Amino acid sequence: MEDLIIIGAASAGLTAGLYAARSRLKTVLLEKLSPGGQIITTDIVENYPGFPEGISGFELIDRMRRQAERFGLEMRIEEARELRLSGEEKVVITNNGKLDAKAIILACGATPRKIGIEGEELLTGRGVSYCATCDGPFFRDQEVAIIGGGDTAVEEALFLTKFVSKVHLVHRRDELRATRLLRERALSSGKINIIWDTVPTRIKGNNGVEGIDLKNVKTGKGSFLPVEGVFVFIGYSPSNELVKGQLKLDEQGFIVTNDNMETSVTGVFAAGDIRSKLLRQVSTAVGDGATAAFAAERYIEGLESGKR
Ligand code: NAP
Repeated sequence: MEDLIIIGAASAGLTAGLYAARSRLKTVLLEKLSPGGQIITTDIVENYPGFPEGISGFELIDRMRRQAERFGLEMRIEEARELRLSGEEKVVITNNGKLDAKAIILACGATPRKIGIEGEELLTGRGVSYCATCDGPFFRDQEVAIIGGGDTAVEEALFLTKFVSKVHLVHRRDELRATRLLRERALSSGKINIIWDTVPTRIKGNNGVEGIDLKNVKTGKGSFLPVEGVFVFIGYSPSNELVKGQLKLDEQGFIVTNDNMETSVTGVFAAGDIRSKLLRQVSTAVGDGATAAFAAERYIEGLESGKR
């Protein structure tokens, strides 16, 4: 039996893994694809302390992985498919068999939300994208639309200006949600055109995007915006499929924890973007990961000394 299983190898999971490995807990970190999570799709991370010039998301995650492995963390590319959390022994069924542990840290993160309009699904991968770093270069000297007004939408709009001729940022209100610094950069960029109070109603095209139908939410007036690409950045949904019905979730489906990252089930901890909290960033994810590993260690020690 393992001491600890961590699920998800992004900032929170890798930090939990680093702390667990340094505490000499027998730990396995499971990741279904490759380490990274959302941050590897970020061109430059500018607000993670210690990197005054910024650092690419990919490089930051690679450094975290190497640091955790240097202290002996065992990482497996293996997909957790089912969790049995209620007993003292925590069971994880993977694509490769069955694992059990005294404690579990869930650090499975979140995935981009879809907007749910006609054409979105049909044209995903054919002009509709959820990752500017991955797909931006395909739209060199073309016009694209971004849907959303938060940090992600504005940051990615600024990134896309390196390639495209124009970014049309379609936002449903008359004020951006993004932080002031990003707002200022967007408003002063000559390549970003903000379309206020507007929502998309349809993405048009067959083999590629031809444009989007828009509706002004104040006037009700419709219009058509010809663009060759549509990037959707309207927030994230928690990757909670494995724990629905087993753990307490908030209204949006994020896992509810206390300050020690303990969930509603003893021996089960959550860290990073999957957790119900105010701020989802790398800096908060690593704090969650460290706390979760420390709390898990204390929990395991309690089990071993018969205090639980
Ligand atoms: P977010 O903050 O939830 O913003 C989502 C944006 O999409 C909002 O502007 C929202 O409009 C809009 N929206 C939501 N549903 C919509 C719909 N159905 N139709 C049209 N528009 C819709 O999501 P995010 O920007 O992805 O950020 C997620 C978290 O990551 C945040 O905590 C953010 O601070 C953090 N983050 C930080 C950085 C950074 O520090 N550099 C970078 C990226 C992300 P309303 O404004 O009207 O609600």
